[in-house]
Amino acid sequence: MHKKIFFCLAILIGVLAAGFFVHKESQSCTGPGVSAAGVKTGNIFPAPGRTSYNMKLYLDAGNRIVYGKTHLKTVNTSTQKLQELWFTAYPNAFKDKANTPAPASAYFNGFNPGWMKITAITVNSQKVVPEEQGISIRVGLPGAIKPGQAVEVVIQWEIKIPQASYRYGSNRSIYMLGNFYPALNLLTSEGWHNSYNSVFGDPFCFPCADYHMEINIPQGYELVSTGQNQDTIAEDSGREIHLVKALNARDFCMVVVYDYSKVSSGFQNTSLHCYAPPGAMDKARQVLEQSRDIFNYYACTFGSYPYKEFKIVFVPMKGFHGMEYSGIIFLREEFLDTSSDTKENEFLLAHEIAHQWWYSVVGNDQVKEPWLDEGLANWSAYKYLYERKGQKPPPESHKPAGIKLTRELKEIYSAQEYYGTAYTGGEAFWFGLEDELGSEQVIKVLRRYYADFQYGIATTDDLKNCIQVEAHKNMDHYFQRWFED
Ligand SMILES: [Zn+2]
Repeated sequence: MHKKIFFCLAILIGVLAAGFFVHKESQSCTGPGVSAAGVKTGNIFPAPGRTSYNMKLYLDAGNRIVYGKTHLKTVNTSTQKLQELWFTAYPNAFKDKANTPAPASAYFNGFNPGWMKITAITVNSQKVVPEEQGISIRVGLPGAIKPGQAVEVVIQWEIKIPQASYRYGSNRSIYMLGNFYPALNLLTSEGWHNSYNSVFGDPFCFPCADYHMEINIPQGYELVSTGQNQDTIAEDSGREIHLVKALNARDFCMVVVYDYSKVSSGFQNTSLHCYAPPGAMDKARQVLEQSRDIFNYYACTFGSYPYKEFKIVFVPMKGFHGMEYSGIIFLREEFLDTSSDTKENEFLLAHEIAHQWWYSVVGNDQVKEPWLDEGLANWSAYKYLYERKGQKPPPESHKPAGIKLTRELKEIYSAQEYYGTAYTGGEAFWFGLEDELGSEQVIKVLRRYYADFQYGIATTDDLKNCIQVEAHKNMDHYFQRWFED
């Protein structure tokens, strides 16, 4: 009898202790935890840490218009005098039916336009005239801005949100606002990295900046955005102002939803939230739990996630299964269907979350070198599924070389070719590198890449240097296979 009680007690203590360790394990890394360190920003302009956007926004939900005022402060951190500034005005991609990047299926009521209007703009208190060029806006400066000189831009603008199920659009009472504001483009020694209107891919290149937002929306709607909510102020008019702060964010994205519910969890210092229609909360809870596991794997493998909040939101979206932004991802609502393929969904979730490491924290020019973030997001997702779920990647992911990876989006003319280069070509590069160096060494390469280029913009050459340093042997033969014609 005593023996039995002792035995039971011993089992109970054992179970409790195991539970404690399992719990601890899910909170922190099992291997050596890594945290990204320095910010390598070189001479890029506008530089992260020295650039802030203060924006006041007012959403007129009925007319699908946002009125905005931006106060952008930065410094000429380039080595040249600035004669002009270039901005991205993505809403102008949606002006007409012939040029819209959204597929016809996104326009549930037939084509419906979207646009951006700049109503006034000053640079260092001087009035300037914006010139629209496709989805870019050029601003010629009356006097050159010298290196080291402050740059202050004040822009009054408004945008029309099209009725479209897209990453920029609205459907029912859901407003998807990706790349919705005038964003200052990147200038490097190669020139301006302007955005590009493309029906496939993410044709942008943005340096990280700090965002301080005052977002005025009708009461009853919920705001889901990049960054952290600091405060919400109710107005007598039946509206609410949300004060949001996002430091070192790659972009600022938001979705305004009506009648959605939220489930939350956490990993290390980050709160994870999942937003879905009330009828889909069981699925949302599952997705949140999976996301936590994926976060755990990436943080412990590549380096810790620096942002305090991460959000997943289900939206009506055609043309993409998922879409990544800084601290937030969109997943198309079909994901919630009980009939949708769970394996495919798991891969998609792991791919989009990987972009938080490879896009959001380590940036790259997605027009010039889309393979950098897409290839890594695919390979990271396969790696997670193999290491944590025992699922082997498909044999085609180990395709032999023969694809030139460093092709610009502008040189690629079909979605199929784009996926073949950036995604399947990109993932094959990493599987090939594992064959060449071993998995442990490849993880070391990626930890170095993540630490060295946190909040920066990495290039293929930067990545090649990281590989070369960790390989301890000449890698030219491998690079030739992937980067030369
Ligand atoms: Zn992707």
